[in-house]
This record gives sequence, structure tokens and C-alpha cells, in this order.
Amino acid sequence: MNDQGFAEVAVSLPLWKTFTYRVPKGLEGQVELGKRVLIPFHRRKVTGYVIDFPTPLPDSLDPDKVREIIDVLDEIPLFDENMLGLFRWISRYYFYPLGEVIKTGLPPGLTVESCRILEITPRGEAHLAQLQPGGGDRLLLEACRERKELNLPLLSRRLKIRNIHSRIFALKKNGFLTEQVRLKKERTRAKQEAVFAFQEEDKQVKRPGPTPKESEILEFIKSRTRVSRSDVTRRFSRVAPYLRRLVEKGWLSVDFEERYREPFLNEGFGTEKEPELTEDQQVALAEIERSIEAGGYHPYLLHGITGSGKTEVYLRAIKQVMKRGREAIVLVPEISLTPQLISRFKTRFGRVIAVLHSGLSPAERYDQWRRIVRHEVRIVIGARSAIFAPFKKPGIIIVDEEHETSFKQEEKLKYNARDLAVVRAKMDKAVLVLGSATPSMESFFNTLQIGKFQYLRLPRRIESRVLPAVEIVDMRAERDRGRRSVFSQSLKEALLANADRGQQSLLFLNRRGFANFILCTDCGWTFHCPNCSVTLTFHAPGRLLQCHHCGHTAPVPLRCPHCESYNLHPLGIGTQRVEDEIRKLMPSARVARMDRDTTARKGAHWTIVRAMERRKIDVLIGTQMIVKGHDFPSITLVGVICADTILNFPDFRATERTFQLLTQAAGRAGRGDQAGRVIIQTYNPDHYSIQRAKEHDFLGFYQEEIAYREELGYPPFSRLVNLRISGNREDRTEAFAKRLAIVGAETKRRKGVYRDHIELLGPCAAPLARVKGRYRWQLLAKSSRPESLHRFLAEVLARMEKETPGIRLEVDVDPINLM
Ligand code: ADP
Ligand code: ZN
Ligand code: ZN
Repeated sequence: MNDQGFAEVAVSLPLWKTFTYRVPKGLEGQVELGKRVLIPFHRRKVTGYVIDFPTPLPDSLDPDKVREIIDVLDEIPLFDENMLGLFRWISRYYFYPLGEVIKTGLPPGLTVESCRILEITPRGEAHLAQLQPGGGDRLLLEACRERKELNLPLLSRRLKIRNIHSRIFALKKNGFLTEQVRLKKERTRAKQEAVFAFQEEDKQVKRPGPTPKESEILEFIKSRTRVSRSDVTRRFSRVAPYLRRLVEKGWLSVDFEERYREPFLNEGFGTEKEPELTEDQQVALAEIERSIEAGGYHPYLLHGITGSGKTEVYLRAIKQVMKRGREAIVLVPEISLTPQLISRFKTRFGRVIAVLHSGLSPAERYDQWRRIVRHEVRIVIGARSAIFAPFKKPGIIIVDEEHETSFKQEEKLKYNARDLAVVRAKMDKAVLVLGSATPSMESFFNTLQIGKFQYLRLPRRIESRVLPAVEIVDMRAERDRGRRSVFSQSLKEALLANADRGQQSLLFLNRRGFANFILCTDCGWTFHCPNCSVTLTFHAPGRLLQCHHCGHTAPVPLRCPHCESYNLHPLGIGTQRVEDEIRKLMPSARVARMDRDTTARKGAHWTIVRAMERRKIDVLIGTQMIVKGHDFPSITLVGVICADTILNFPDFRATERTFQLLTQAAGRAGRGDQAGRVIIQTYNPDHYSIQRAKEHDFLGFYQEEIAYREELGYPPFSRLVNLRISGNREDRTEAFAKRLAIVGAETKRRKGVYRDHIELLGPCAAPLARVKGRYRWQLLAKSSRPESLHRFLAEVLARMEKETPGIRLEVDVDPINLM
């Protein structure tokens, strides 16, 4: 038996094992690590990934029983040994099947919807003319001439062509066929857009004068040298015939530029020059550059207050990495992945950037991914999934706003991209920079107390802009004085004064909708979601009740369903209500709102940002979207409507999040030349997260918070793993959770380390006991010894492996969301 003939395959199914397959004659030349293969699996055919080839046949397997690979689906490997190492690490650490991890790491379009496009070449045509009718090659070549997208299994059955794959392989090798992989039904050709420019006058040629409307368009284009069609149409309505006539008359030139299907990439290039670095920036950069030069893994925590110039440091460090021929991965929270940020990178580095974020369609993502694989790209900027960018060996990995919880994926593979950045940087021997104004407790602990990361600091704002003065308004006192308005007296006055000076204000509230809920003031009735254990949020437009977990909506009835009273009143406030109140308070102000309701449409986000920049908005109201990422230079007043919305969350990270959000919100004020002012309204004015945010005192906050974490044994003093059980039947879900807890307790008794160092909390119903109709329970495992915890859980899970119908068991390692 020939040992060269076996491949180890990970199947993209929820299975822990990998499988060995035989490579049949005709496919030997094509099987390679990193390629997808079609394999028989029980009675199905499924996609698998080659993770080892050639591989020795395990002793336990009877060579005669090993099944054969049906087809190789890729021309070039999708991942290399290096990436496989990362995938294996992820699979072990997050208790997730290897095949499913690989699937997560590849662009979605590629795994599900790609198909082969075979095209006959001129040589192939000539060859075809000489072939006898009826032969397999002839049938194949004819089929390729007729149709571009071939369903090979179908074709092979219909035309009865044997060894279809080896035939295609041979035809390609002889240059009779070319093959490409494309997404089904989606065009992956580059898009083109017209770009107009003013034609300088040529004395020899007299051109017909423009009409008044044409002159107007001409002026617009003349003032900005080159203008894309979409920019002109944004400015003028029904402009196409005018543009055509201006081109005909010789006033405009037109040419075409390639457009990637990536909204941000097509925004205009600026011409920003590299600024002179401040001394702080120089010190930080010099340190990072030393590591870039030395090569090898070196991790930094760059702690820079908002507006201290962290991004500038990233840009310079990337430049150095690129000089040395290596690539860069930049992770930013989805919400900060703004056109502003992208255009800043583009201005410096041009087109060698790929942008990856969750708003991309499969075709767009596939475009970006291919650009990376083809080495057209040297820098990848993206939200969490960009950590899987298929660079061979990136030289630097940057995680901006490293404390952001959005780096954690909450569904399926529950990875934290910030943590994976550390792992990947180590594997690829890259420099790692974690940047934040408010580092996470974990990262700061790793820096200060463990010495795992090296500390770099930017303690001052650029151009010595002062941090804004923060004022805390005690809403209890307001209430006691009989004031029940959304705005306290000081915030009201500040808003009006700011508007009088013609300056912009920002109002932040971490809750969308109009009111928190509707209450019957006669019987106390509130409206609950039929699928989730939460109250429904009131949205004023359309008078709708909406569930923010499952999207369930229902109109507000006229009368209380319980006591038939008409006294149904909105209670608690949301961003819609704030908008309402602002319009009442300042009827002439131009007001805009930015939250998930107003930015659902693609590009809506950007329209608001631009209006802000052009000072067409006086007051911007919004959720956390407005306090993260955007750099609005002219805001001089920031109001936090209610700091308690996060603080009162039943989660041990609530305090940390409150401090971070308030600091971020305060950081929005006074970014330009004008000093800023911040007003925080709260019912907990003495809480340290609020007091420390007022003083811009990160270290003070850290010290208080870390003491509290230590006392309760929470991370970073321990690791948590949450075992989440959900099911559509309440009794079965509970029973399963209890069985899991018993297995856990038994396993714990088996070994001394488990007994002494692992704590099991629960099982109990999750705080959100029902979501989308499913009942939820959880069992929390806690330990200060991560390795023992992992070994322990592997044992527990192995003993639970039998599938239970209707029950889902999910493992959340290092959970962020304990709801
Ligand atoms: P951060 O990322 O820390 O919030 P940025 O890098 O965005 O800070 O810098 C804040 C602002 O200051 C930006 O508008 C940036 O262009 C500008 N800036 C950064 N570094 C310098 C510098 N050395 N000189 C002048 N302006 C700078
Ligand atoms: Zn009632
Ligand atoms: Zn719901």
C-alpha cells in the first residue's frame, strides 16, 4: 500500500474528529494542504479541508475501508501551515471543531457559493476540431463552450464521463481549458465609474458656451479638479444629460476609474501631509521601531488619552514594517471603521489597503480577500474577522481600542480578536500594538502587574489641547427640586449658550427608542416580548413596541390589555425622546440622531458624519455610535443624559464599561481649537467610575477596580468559561443543565488540581432566561489556572458528547456577555 496516498481532512461539521481519506488516481497532483475537497461522509457529500498531506495511515484504520476523495475544489490553497497552526490553537482554546474554525476564518462566499468557471482556449478549439465525436474530452470541451458555470458532478452523470476531474486536469495542463473560481450569481468583475475633469481652454478650438445650468456644474467640477459621477449626482439632480453635453462641447474630459465594491474605499483621497511627531509620539515610535528592526514577537500596550495621536504612531510603525517588506493587520471596532479612518490610511498608503467588515456582501468580501492573497494588498484594516487576513507573515498587528467588547464574537465561534492578535503575533513573530485611552483591566494588568506587555504612553493631547472640564449633575437633587425633565438645569443652559455661540453639541444616551417601556399607571401592566424575557421598548414613530433582542414588534394598544384603562404611559428615556425634547427646547436648532434605527441604511452613518463636519448640525444625539471613533473637531459641549444605564447592568464589567464610555464621551469634546465642556447626569454622582472619569484619571480608576476584582476573584485574577445551555423546552433544558452540573461535579472530584482550583457556579437560569423563544441556562466555571480549567472542561465535554435533541450546549471561553 502506498503511504503517499492519504490525506487528513477536517470536515466543516460540528465534529471533534478529523478523518483520513484516500487520494484517488488522477487527483494526486492536486491534493495539497489548505485546499478544499469534496468527500463522502456517511451517505452525504460534504466539504472538507486538507490539513495534512501526505499523512500516514493510522494503525486503527483498515486500508481497504478508507474512502476516497471525490474532488479537489481549489486551484490554490486557501491557507498555509502557519494559519493552520492558528486554527488548531483556536479549536483547542475555544472548544470548537477544527473544520468549523477554518470555515470561520475563510470568507463566507468562498466556502459556500463558489463555483468553477471553465473556459475553452483557442488551442482548445483547435484540439476539439480534431477529436472523434463521442469521446469524453470532446463532450467536456463542448460543454465548456456552451456554458461557463459547470456543475461537474451533474455533468459527469449526465454525459457519463468517467474520471471527469483527471480529464479536466489534463485538459488544463495542455492549455485547452482555463479555470477560475467565481462566486455564483455574483459578478466579481471590477466596477468602473466615470470621473470628470475640467478641460483647459485650447485657443485654437472655439467651443460652444455653456448654458447657465451647465456653467453651474462646470464651476463645481472646476473647483475640485477631478470629480466622480457619484459626487456630481450627490450635488445636482438629473445631471446626466448636462454632463454628456459638457463632454460633447469639449468643456469636460471623462475617464474611468476602477471601483472596488467597498463603499469606503471610493471616498475621496485627501492630501494630508505627515505631521511632525510630538516628543511623546517619537519616544513611543522609536521603541516600536526598535522591535520592528530586531524582528520577532514584541507586544506593546500603547496607552494614549483620546486625541493624543495614537493613530499617527500606528501609521508610522506600519510604514517601517512595509519598508522591511512585511505586512500589517489593523483591527478596529466595527463602529470606528469610519470613512474618516480609512481615508487617513489611504492618504498615506494608497491602494495597497484592504478593508474587511461585517457590512460587506460575500462578493465584496471575496474581492478583498483575493486582493490579499494576490499580494495586491499590504495592509488590512478591519473589524474582528480581519485577524484571519491571509498574509503569510505579517510584521505588525495593531489592535486599536483594544478594550472594546465588540472584538468578541458572540455567536458560533466565540473568539476574541484582541486575544487572537496576541496569539497570531507570537506565531508570526510580529510586533503587537494594543492601543487604547482606557485599556481593559486584563491588558493593563498584563502590563503593569505581569509584565507581559511593554508599556508605552501618550499622556498629552496633540497641540496641548486641554482635556475638557467635566461637571457632574446629581439627578437626585434635580428630582427632589421637582424637576423631572430629561435635561438638568445646567445642561439646558449649556446647550442654549452653546447654540448661541454657534457651536456644536453632542448628547449621548446608551439606549435607543423613545421610552424604555410602556406602563399602565392604573394596574402596573408592562408589555413583554412573547419570545424573550424582556420588556418591549417603545418607539414613537408608528407607536410601536419593539423587542431589542429578537426584533418582535407590535402596535401599542389603545387600552391596557389587563385592566382596560387608557392610562398607558411611556417611562424611561431613549434617544428618540431626547430628540423630541431638544426640538421643544431649541426649536430653531438643526438636530440629528445617530443610532441603530437611523443608520440601518448603508451609508446613512456617513451622511450624518459629513453633515456634522460641514456644521449643518447643531445638536447630534446618539448612542455609543457617536462617542466612539468619530473625530468631530468642532464639538464643544458633550452631554451624557444618564450615566446609570450601563452602571446598573448586572455584570461585573459594568463599572469598567461605564468608566470607558464616559471617558470616550468626554474625549469627544474640545478636539479642535476650542476648549470643551462635558456634563454628566447621574443618580450615582459619587461612584468611582464617574468620579474618576470626571478627573480623567485612568490609573486611579484601575487601582480601585482591580482591588475589587481581586477580592471577588474575577478576571484578570481568574479565567471564566461559561457553559450555555439552551433549548425550546423548559423542562428538558433545565434537566440537561443539571446533568451537566453533575458531570462537572464528578469530574472535579477526580483530581486534586480540579478540586482545589476550579469553581463551578450554577447551574442556574441565565439572567435573560428566554431569548427568541429558547430557554437559557448556564453553568459558569472559574479558575486561576487556565490550563487546568481547559483540561477539566475537555473531560467534562467528552463525557457529555452524546447529542441531545433540541438542546444546544455552547462553550463561551472568556465570556464578555454573561446575560
Ligand atoms: P488618537 O488616535 O489618539 O485619538 P489621532 O492620531 O487621531 O489620535 O490624533 C488626533 C488628531 O491630531 C488627528 O486629527 C491627527 O491628524 C492629529 N495629529 C496626530 N499627530 C499629530 C502631530 N504630531 N502633529 C499634529 N497633528 C497631529
Ligand atoms: Zn392596566
Ligand atoms: Zn424578543
